[in-house]
Amino acid sequence: MMKKSMSKKGIIYTVNLTEIEGDGSFPCPKCATVISPEDETEEIYKIVDTKIVNDELVELVIMCGNCGSNIKLTGFQGTI
Ligand SMILES: [Zn+2]
Repeated sequence: MMKKSMSKKGIIYTVNLTEIEGDGSFPCPKCATVISPEDETEEIYKIVDTKIVNDELVELVIMCGNCGSNIKLTGFQGTI
């Protein structure tokens, strides 16, 4: 089984959105830059990968614009 979870940086942080209170923003696990999913300017973060099952977004991989960490967001179900 090939798994593409290893990036060139080696680490992907995982953030479960169901464990986040408030508007869904969270600090980058590495550099603590606040990342808000509402922010679509791509200045704070960039979307690297999306995983869609049955037309629903279930997983989103973003890259922190400040430190370049890959962060996998899970817990989208039921939020749309
Ligand atoms: Zn960061």
